[in-house]
Amino acid sequence: MSETKPVTAECVFCKILRGESTAEIVFRNRNAIAILDINPIHYGHILVIPRSHAESFLGVPEEELADLIHATRKVTEAMVKSLDPPGYNIFSNNGEAAGQSVFHCHFHITPRYRDDNIRFLLKLKRYEGDEMRRYAERIRSTLSGSA
Ligand code: AMP
Ligand code: ZN
Repeated sequence: MSETKPVTAECVFCKILRGESTAEIVFRNRNAIAILDINPIHYGHILVIPRSHAESFLGVPEEELADLIHATRKVTEAMVKSLDPPGYNIFSNNGEAAGQSVFHCHFHITPRYRDDNIRFLLKLKRYEGDEMRRYAERIRSTLSGSA
């Protein structure tokens, strides 16, 4: 999955970051903001958005990552303390195939409740033979090549 050119003028999250569109901003630091999702999975569903327009997680500039993770941790902690859900999910959809609909990277943080009937419909696979080792090897060799 490759990054396409940044299109910040029309990007709904860039507009919020520039103050051209309104949002319920709950937190901001130098390189990230956190807002309430306008169509929440559950009330209190938060989006953490890096300041730079990058379509996917891999396009977020290295120097902004610490602030992005810090904001995610900070608002998750506040959401848990204030809403006291029995669980929560943190996730990010990257690419249309993964369900991304706003092409400016973001993390979702949503409260979860017992029996809330939200689940990925998973048909889990099994590795056959040495497939598991071969998949690990592909990833390991790419990592050692890029170190
Ligand atoms: P995704 O489908 O993972 O790209 O998530 C995009 C999310 O952005 C969805 O959950 C939308 O409800 C949310 N969203 C879209 N526009 C806005 C907006 N103007 N303010 C807040 N949330 C938004
Ligand atoms: Zn953007």
